[in-house]
Amino acid sequence: MEKREQMYEGKAKKVFATDDPALCIVSYKDDATAFNGLKKGTIRGKGVVNNRMSNYLMKLLEAEGVPTHLVEELNDRETLVKRVQIVPLEVIIRNVAAGSFSKRVGCPEGTPLACTVLEYCYKDDDLGDPMVNDSHILAMQWATKEELDTIAKLTYKVNDVLKAFFKNVNIDLIDFKIEFGRLPDGTIVLADEISPDTCRIWDSTTHEKLDKDRFRRDLGNVEDAYEEMMRRIFG
Ligand code: UDP
Repeated sequence: MEKREQMYEGKAKKVFATDDPALCIVSYKDDATAFNGLKKGTIRGKGVVNNRMSNYLMKLLEAEGVPTHLVEELNDRETLVKRVQIVPLEVIIRNVAAGSFSKRVGCPEGTPLACTVLEYCYKDDDLGDPMVNDSHILAMQWATKEELDTIAKLTYKVNDVLKAFFKNVNIDLIDFKIEFGRLPDGTIVLADEISPDTCRIWDSTTHEKLDKDRFRRDLGNVEDAYEEMMRRIFG
Protein backbone atom coordinates (compact mmCIF):
# COMPACT_ATOMS: atom_id res chain seq x y z
CA MET A 1 0.00 0.00 0.00
CA GLU A 2 1.41 3.33 -1.12
CA LYS A 3 0.59 6.84 0.13
CA ARG A 4 -0.40 9.18 -2.70
CA GLU A 5 -1.60 12.79 -3.04
CA GLN A 6 -3.37 14.77 -0.33
CA MET A 7 -7.12 14.74 -1.01
CA TYR A 8 -8.30 17.04 1.74
CA GLU A 9 -7.12 19.06 4.69
CA GLY A 10 -9.50 19.74 7.55
CA LYS A 11 -9.08 21.54 10.86
CA ALA A 12 -7.53 18.60 12.72
CA LYS A 13 -6.71 16.00 10.05
CA LYS A 14 -5.35 15.54 6.54
CA VAL A 15 -6.57 12.80 4.24
CA PHE A 16 -4.36 11.17 1.62
CA ALA A 17 -5.22 8.90 -1.29
CA THR A 18 -3.50 5.52 -1.61
CA ASP A 19 -2.85 3.24 -4.58
CA ASP A 20 -6.08 1.44 -3.57
CA PRO A 21 -9.11 3.59 -4.49
CA ALA A 22 -11.11 1.97 -1.68
CA LEU A 23 -8.68 3.10 1.04
CA CYS A 24 -7.22 6.36 2.29
CA ILE A 25 -4.83 7.50 4.99
CA VAL A 26 -5.89 9.88 7.74
CA SER A 27 -3.13 11.96 9.34
CA TYR A 28 -3.86 13.64 12.69
CA LYS A 29 -2.48 17.14 13.32
CA ASP A 30 -1.82 19.01 16.56
CA ASP A 31 -3.89 21.97 15.28
CA ALA A 32 -6.91 22.86 17.35
CA THR A 33 -9.81 25.14 16.47
CA ALA A 34 -12.95 26.13 18.31
CA PHE A 35 -16.03 28.29 17.77
CA ASN A 36 -16.24 27.39 14.07
CA GLY A 37 -12.58 28.22 13.42
CA LEU A 38 -12.60 31.59 15.26
CA LYS A 39 -10.16 30.36 17.91
CA LYS A 40 -7.00 28.66 16.65
CA GLY A 41 -4.10 27.03 18.45
CA THR A 42 -1.85 24.04 18.81
CA ILE A 43 -2.10 21.27 21.38
CA ARG A 44 1.29 19.55 21.37
CA GLY A 45 0.93 15.77 21.01
CA LYS A 46 -2.84 15.92 20.39
CA GLY A 47 -2.59 14.24 17.00
CA VAL A 48 -0.91 11.20 18.52
CA VAL A 49 -3.45 10.94 21.36
CA ASN A 50 -6.45 11.33 19.05
CA ASN A 51 -5.12 8.82 16.51
CA ARG A 52 -4.35 6.14 19.09
CA MET A 53 -7.43 6.74 21.25
CA SER A 54 -9.81 6.83 18.30
CA ASN A 55 -8.40 3.60 16.88
CA TYR A 56 -8.59 1.88 20.26
CA LEU A 57 -12.25 2.86 20.68
CA MET A 58 -13.17 1.96 17.08
CA LYS A 59 -11.66 -1.50 17.59
CA LEU A 60 -13.67 -1.90 20.78
CA LEU A 61 -16.83 -0.80 18.96
CA GLU A 62 -16.17 -3.21 16.06
CA ALA A 63 -15.92 -6.04 18.59
CA GLU A 64 -19.33 -4.94 19.93
CA GLY A 65 -20.91 -5.05 16.47
CA VAL A 66 -20.58 -1.43 15.31
CA PRO A 67 -19.08 -1.34 11.80
CA THR A 68 -16.35 1.33 11.40
CA HIS A 69 -14.04 2.72 8.72
CA LEU A 70 -10.93 1.49 10.58
CA VAL A 71 -8.50 -0.74 8.67
CA GLU A 72 -5.12 -0.42 10.37
CA GLU A 73 -3.07 1.99 12.47
CA LEU A 74 0.08 2.78 10.43
CA ASN A 75 2.04 4.85 12.94
CA ASP A 76 1.59 7.37 15.80
CA ARG A 77 -0.34 9.84 13.68
CA GLU A 78 -1.56 7.93 10.61
CA THR A 79 -4.28 5.37 10.09
CA LEU A 80 -5.48 3.47 7.06
CA VAL A 81 -9.27 3.72 6.70
CA LYS A 82 -11.93 2.68 4.22
CA ARG A 83 -12.84 5.46 1.85
CA VAL A 84 -16.41 6.55 2.55
CA GLN A 85 -18.85 9.21 1.48
CA ILE A 86 -19.48 11.18 4.65
CA VAL A 87 -23.12 11.66 5.65
CA PRO A 88 -23.17 15.46 6.24
CA LEU A 89 -24.38 15.21 9.83
CA GLU A 90 -22.81 15.63 13.25
CA VAL A 91 -24.58 13.09 15.42
CA ILE A 92 -24.53 14.12 19.06
CA ILE A 93 -25.42 12.16 22.18
CA ARG A 94 -25.90 13.84 25.54
CA ASN A 95 -25.97 11.99 28.86
CA VAL A 96 -25.47 15.10 31.01
CA ALA A 97 -26.25 18.75 30.22
CA ALA A 98 -23.27 20.77 28.93
CA GLY A 99 -22.14 23.15 26.20
CA SER A 100 -24.68 24.34 23.66
CA PHE A 101 -27.46 22.22 25.23
CA SER A 102 -27.08 24.00 28.57
CA LYS A 103 -27.17 27.37 26.80
CA ARG A 104 -30.14 26.56 24.59
CA VAL A 105 -32.43 25.16 27.28
CA GLY A 106 -31.09 27.11 30.26
CA CYS A 107 -29.92 24.13 32.30
CA PRO A 108 -26.68 24.24 34.34
CA GLU A 109 -23.75 22.18 33.05
CA GLY A 110 -23.47 18.88 34.89
CA THR A 111 -27.22 18.34 35.33
CA PRO A 112 -28.08 14.68 34.68
CA LEU A 113 -30.71 14.20 31.94
CA ALA A 114 -33.86 12.11 32.48
CA CYS A 115 -33.16 10.33 29.21
CA THR A 116 -30.40 10.25 26.61
CA VAL A 117 -30.61 13.12 24.11
CA LEU A 118 -29.87 12.53 20.40
CA GLU A 119 -29.22 15.59 18.23
CA TYR A 120 -28.23 16.16 14.61
CA CYS A 121 -26.36 19.13 13.16
CA TYR A 122 -25.98 19.74 9.44
CA LYS A 123 -22.24 19.85 8.65
CA ASP A 124 -21.79 23.23 6.99
CA ASP A 125 -19.20 25.70 8.31
CA ASP A 126 -20.74 28.64 6.43
CA LEU A 127 -24.06 28.00 8.18
CA GLY A 128 -22.37 27.32 11.53
CA ASP A 129 -23.45 23.64 11.65
CA PRO A 130 -27.14 24.31 12.46
CA MET A 131 -29.13 21.82 14.53
CA VAL A 132 -31.65 19.96 12.36
CA ASN A 133 -34.27 17.28 12.98
CA ASP A 134 -35.25 14.04 11.24
CA SER A 135 -37.68 15.70 8.85
CA HIS A 136 -35.13 18.33 7.83
CA ILE A 137 -32.70 15.51 7.03
CA LEU A 138 -35.24 13.57 4.97
CA ALA A 139 -36.55 16.70 3.21
CA MET A 140 -33.01 17.71 2.22
CA GLN A 141 -32.08 14.09 1.36
CA TRP A 142 -28.95 14.21 3.51
CA ALA A 143 -29.82 10.61 4.49
CA THR A 144 -32.64 8.19 3.75
CA LYS A 145 -35.12 7.01 6.37
CA GLU A 146 -33.36 3.63 6.47
CA GLU A 147 -29.95 5.25 6.87
CA LEU A 148 -31.19 7.53 9.62
CA ASP A 149 -32.72 4.58 11.51
CA THR A 150 -29.38 2.77 11.26
CA ILE A 151 -27.44 5.86 12.35
CA ALA A 152 -29.67 6.39 15.41
CA LYS A 153 -29.48 2.72 16.43
CA LEU A 154 -25.69 2.59 16.03
CA THR A 155 -25.26 5.88 17.89
CA TYR A 156 -27.13 4.64 20.98
CA LYS A 157 -25.03 1.47 20.83
CA VAL A 158 -21.83 3.56 20.63
CA ASN A 159 -23.02 5.47 23.71
CA ASP A 160 -23.64 2.25 25.69
CA VAL A 161 -20.21 0.84 24.82
CA LEU A 162 -18.28 4.07 25.42
CA LYS A 163 -20.10 4.95 28.67
CA ALA A 164 -19.24 1.54 30.13
CA PHE A 165 -15.65 1.70 28.88
CA PHE A 166 -15.00 5.16 30.33
CA LYS A 167 -16.71 4.29 33.63
CA ASN A 168 -14.03 1.60 34.05
CA VAL A 169 -11.31 4.26 33.97
CA ASN A 170 -13.27 6.56 36.33
CA ILE A 171 -14.56 8.91 33.65
CA ASP A 172 -18.10 10.14 32.98
CA LEU A 173 -19.02 10.46 29.31
CA ILE A 174 -21.01 13.71 29.30
CA ASP A 175 -21.62 14.03 25.54
CA PHE A 176 -19.96 13.29 22.21
CA LYS A 177 -20.17 13.87 18.47
CA ILE A 178 -19.71 11.16 15.84
CA GLU A 179 -19.98 11.00 12.07
CA PHE A 180 -20.96 8.22 9.70
CA GLY A 181 -20.01 7.35 6.14
CA ARG A 182 -21.34 5.18 3.31
CA LEU A 183 -19.26 2.42 1.79
CA PRO A 184 -19.61 1.94 -1.99
CA ASP A 185 -22.23 -0.77 -1.34
CA GLY A 186 -24.27 1.64 0.81
CA THR A 187 -23.34 0.18 4.20
CA ILE A 188 -23.32 2.81 6.95
CA VAL A 189 -20.12 2.76 9.02
CA LEU A 190 -18.78 4.88 11.86
CA ALA A 191 -16.13 7.26 10.47
CA ASP A 192 -14.16 10.36 11.52
CA GLU A 193 -12.78 10.15 15.08
CA ILE A 194 -13.65 9.62 18.74
CA SER A 195 -11.26 11.64 20.89
CA PRO A 196 -11.05 14.38 23.53
CA ASP A 197 -11.71 16.76 20.61
CA THR A 198 -15.13 15.23 20.05
CA CYS A 199 -16.21 14.03 23.52
CA ARG A 200 -16.82 15.70 26.85
CA ILE A 201 -15.14 13.45 29.39
CA TRP A 202 -15.01 14.38 33.06
CA ASP A 203 -13.21 12.61 35.89
CA SER A 204 -15.95 10.80 37.84
CA THR A 205 -14.52 11.77 41.25
CA THR A 206 -13.19 15.31 40.77
CA HIS A 207 -15.34 16.24 37.71
CA GLU A 208 -12.16 17.64 36.18
CA LYS A 209 -12.54 18.17 32.43
CA LEU A 210 -10.21 15.96 30.35
CA ASP A 211 -11.25 17.19 26.92
CA LYS A 212 -11.09 20.04 24.41
CA ASP A 213 -13.12 22.35 26.69
CA ARG A 214 -9.76 23.02 28.39
CA PHE A 215 -8.67 24.64 25.10
CA ARG A 216 -12.03 26.22 24.19
CA ARG A 217 -12.38 27.86 27.62
CA ASP A 218 -8.70 28.56 28.38
CA LEU A 219 -8.74 26.33 31.46
CA GLY A 220 -5.01 25.53 31.23
CA ASN A 221 -3.21 22.15 31.33
CA VAL A 222 -4.59 21.29 27.90
CA GLU A 223 -1.73 18.97 26.91
CA ASP A 224 -1.87 17.33 30.37
CA ALA A 225 -5.54 16.47 29.89
CA TYR A 226 -4.87 14.69 26.58
CA GLU A 227 -1.87 12.87 28.12
CA GLU A 228 -4.01 11.86 31.10
CA MET A 229 -6.55 10.28 28.72
CA MET A 230 -3.72 8.31 27.09
CA ARG A 231 -2.61 7.05 30.51
CA ARG A 232 -6.12 6.02 31.53
CA ILE A 233 -6.64 4.05 28.33
CA PHE A 234 -3.21 2.57 27.69
CA GLY A 235 -1.81 2.56 31.24
N1 UDP B 1 -18.62 18.65 19.05
C1 UDP B 1 -17.66 18.35 18.11
N2 UDP B 1 -17.57 19.14 17.00
C2 UDP B 1 -18.35 20.23 16.80
C3 UDP B 1 -19.33 20.53 17.76
C4 UDP B 1 -19.44 19.72 18.87
O1 UDP B 1 -16.94 17.37 18.23
O2 UDP B 1 -18.20 20.91 15.76
C5 UDP B 1 -18.75 17.81 20.26
C6 UDP B 1 -18.30 18.52 21.52
O3 UDP B 1 -16.94 18.23 21.79
C7 UDP B 1 -19.20 17.93 22.57
C8 UDP B 1 -20.47 17.54 21.82
O4 UDP B 1 -20.12 17.51 20.45
O5 UDP B 1 -18.62 16.74 23.10
C9 UDP B 1 -21.60 18.52 22.03
O6 UDP B 1 -21.15 19.81 21.70
P1 UDP B 1 -22.08 21.11 21.88
O7 UDP B 1 -23.24 21.01 20.96
O8 UDP B 1 -22.36 21.30 23.32
O9 UDP B 1 -21.22 22.26 21.24
P2 UDP B 1 -20.03 23.14 21.84
O10 UDP B 1 -20.41 23.54 23.22
O11 UDP B 1 -18.82 22.25 21.75
O12 UDP B 1 -20.00 24.26 20.86
